[in-house]
Parts: sequence; structure tokens; C-alpha cells
Amino acid sequence: MNCRKHTRTEKYFIQTFGCQMNVHDSEVMSGLLEQSGYERASAPEEADLILLNTCCVRENAENRLYGHLGNLKPIKDQRPETIIGVCGCMAQQAEQQERIRDKFPYIDLVFGTHNLHRLPELIQEIKQTGVGRLFEVWAEGERAEDLPARRDNPYQAWVNIIYGCNNFCTYCIVPYVRGREKSRRPEKILAEVERLAKEGVKEVTLLGQNVNSYGLDFPPAKSMDFPDLLAKINKIDGISRIRFQTSHPKDLSDKLIQEMAEGEKICEHIHLPVQAGSDKILTAMNRKYTREHYLNLIRKLRAAIPEIIITTDLIVGFPGEEEADFMDTLSLVQEVGYDGAFTFAYSPRAGTKAASLPGQVEEEVKMERLHRLIEVTNSLAKASNLRQVGKVEKILVEGASEKRPEIYSGRTRGNKLVLFDPTTHSRIKRAEDLIGKEITVYIKEGLTYTLKGRIVE
Ligand code: SF4
Repeated sequence: MNCRKHTRTEKYFIQTFGCQMNVHDSEVMSGLLEQSGYERASAPEEADLILLNTCCVRENAENRLYGHLGNLKPIKDQRPETIIGVCGCMAQQAEQQERIRDKFPYIDLVFGTHNLHRLPELIQEIKQTGVGRLFEVWAEGERAEDLPARRDNPYQAWVNIIYGCNNFCTYCIVPYVRGREKSRRPEKILAEVERLAKEGVKEVTLLGQNVNSYGLDFPPAKSMDFPDLLAKINKIDGISRIRFQTSHPKDLSDKLIQEMAEGEKICEHIHLPVQAGSDKILTAMNRKYTREHYLNLIRKLRAAIPEIIITTDLIVGFPGEEEADFMDTLSLVQEVGYDGAFTFAYSPRAGTKAASLPGQVEEEVKMERLHRLIEVTNSLAKASNLRQVGKVEKILVEGASEKRPEIYSGRTRGNKLVLFDPTTHSRIKRAEDLIGKEITVYIKEGLTYTLKGRIVE
């Protein structure tokens, strides 16, 4: 018997964990659901369909997911017709599928990253055929093209250019769950960016686990690499800012640095994860570059683009890391003088090589190193922000702050967040008219994580 018939408009709620790739996947799932007649719900309690888009990169993301799944049980008890689904990276792992199957019998649907375009059909299947629980996870597959996306911000958009990863860093689960690198066809990417520009998007961020290896999987006859793609996107009318993430240092070519310097729409910011400053640890991580190679890239980037903002990811406490290795990380961080950094204490992921390496570092030591590292990265971030004081910058206005709606924010081309009071400009009648516009601000104050600015009349 089908007990899932509704006469009112059905609502969906998606909770997203993890990186920008997941955030964008959730935008696509929202687009697919809205195309099928669903409306967005503001809370899981009012939704007919609840999806958890999961991440498995860090262990705490996994623990958080299972906590959330537990919290959804009362909703299912109260309204058994609610469909609850799990998707994303964790859903790609057989052991997690088993765990959900055994321990969470009220989860109706599990699907993966390769078949998210099948979401409307999967829901229909559950509703119409009364199949009960449906687990459909593809180990690999061609990502469907031309899927709709529901973006919260009409002026900024994420565009996938490459899926998967070939690098097998020893601490990372991504290649096992997202599969091997597969570049999207350039004509599809360019058509998408042109369409976004026509819809009013000003800034695109090109996404991939490693955007720098874009096109390496194309047959040579049709070859196009990442700098070529950037050059083409740079010519698209209406787009004024191009960003990209993430860049693997081993694939950051001179050609790319040159294109970044020459393409006037390519923002002066690079996120270049170094992870560690010791060659011994970089080798154990299988990062395939040395400290010196990385520092040389930084020198080239700064020579080509003097105002470039450089941010990174860092891991402390990787197996085998001794105090001297950690000091190498600290000295590299100082030498580069990063403008910002995401810092992590290593946590072993089941299924990765590093999880079984000897020399696992004690938790207490990891935390102590992490605190020392954060002290250094915070003071560098503050110094970087103080260097911006007195500059006049263009920012793309994002909107009002949630906590203080009288304060607006926008980002510089270097990706620095600038807070400003829109009412201080005599010619601005409605602050919300600024959203999505590029305006000029004078930077008057530099804090650790943000800048404060004043609109230039
Ligand atoms: S480059 Fe390394 S860290 Fe990044 S996704 Fe690939 S394996 Fe993971």
C-alpha cells in the first residue's frame, strides 16, 4: 500500500557536510527537486524529504552524521511517510552502507556521488512501487550534464570542471570514494559559464579536487589544459571574477602562473595546500613535491602577481612527525608568510594507508603542536590584514550580516572579507541594492579574520 500520497506541495530539506564540492552537489539536488515540484523547507521537521549530504574526509564529520541520523528518528516516528536519505562521500563506502542498513532501519534511501542525478527517479521508485528501502550507489559513472542548480546567491556560482582524484595522498579517502579524475568537456563548461553570465552571475569558482590536472585525461588530439580553460572563461562577457579550488602544488605549472597574471578576471588569490614543511613527512604523505619545490612556486607566484593572497591547508601530527619535522612546518609557514590557513590535527581514516603507518603521534602532542601552529598562522593572518589598511579595493557585495543586519560584507579579489556600513554613503538609498555589485571601499581596519572598510564616495 502506498502511504506517501500528498495533495499539497511537498518540501525538502538538505543538510550538507564537508567541502565546496558537496555544497555544490546540494545545489544541484535542490535544483532537481524543485524541478520535480518540491519546495525548500526551513527545518527538517516540516520536510517530506530529508537528505544528508555527507563527507568522509574527517572522522568528526562521520560522527556528526550518525548523531544527526539519530536526531531524525523522532521525525520518522511521528511522520512515517517522511523519506530520509543519505548521499555524498560516506554513502560511497560499503562499510557505511552496511552500518546504515543495520543500525538505522528508518533510513529509506542511500545513493552516491555518481548517481545523484537519479534522485527524482529514486524518490518516485520509493513512492510508487513501495520498494521500501532503496540503496543505489554507483562505484563510478559518467556525471550527467545540464542539471539544474538552485543557488542561494544569484551573483556567485560554483562550476565543476573535474571530478575525482588520482593522487592518493596517504591520509585521504577521497580517491577511494570519488573515483579517478574525469574532466568535464570544455564546451559543456563554457556553455554553463555563458548561461550563468546571462543569468547575472558575476563570479564563478571552478571546482575540482585538483583543478590543475584538468584536461590531462583528454585524448591528446583534443587536448586542453587548465590554463587554456581559464583563458577561454576569461573572455566570457558578464563574468568579472574567476576563482578556482583546489590547486595541487605538484601540478601548478608556469603556464598557469602566467595565465593567472595575464587573465584580468582571474582573482589574485590562490589556495595552495602545503600540508607539511618537512620533506620526510611530505614523502610519507605521498604529496609528490618537496619543500623547496613548493617554496619555489611561491617565489614564482609572487614575482608574477605581486599582490597575490596565498592561503593553505596544514596538517600536524601526521604519523612519524617528530618535533624537528613540526619545526620545519612552522619555519615554512613563516617563510611563506601565509595570508590565511586552515589547520588540522591528523586523524586516521579507516581505509587509508596512513592509518596503519607506524609512529602515530599522541593526541596530546598533536594538540600542543596545533595550538602553536594556530598562534603563528593567526598572527600572520592579522599581519596580512594590517597590510591591507589604507588600500582602496573593489569588493563584490554579498549581503547583510546575519547577526548585525546593519553591517554588510563583500570580498576583495584576494578573497578577503570586508565588513562595511552601507548607510555611510550619501548616494545609497537602499542597502540591499548593493548586493551583487562591485563597489570601491577604503580599508580602514585589519582584524585577524576580517577587514573593516568604508565605501568610497
Ligand atoms: S589531492 Fe590528495 S588530499 Fe586532495 S583529494 Fe586528492 S588524495 Fe585527497
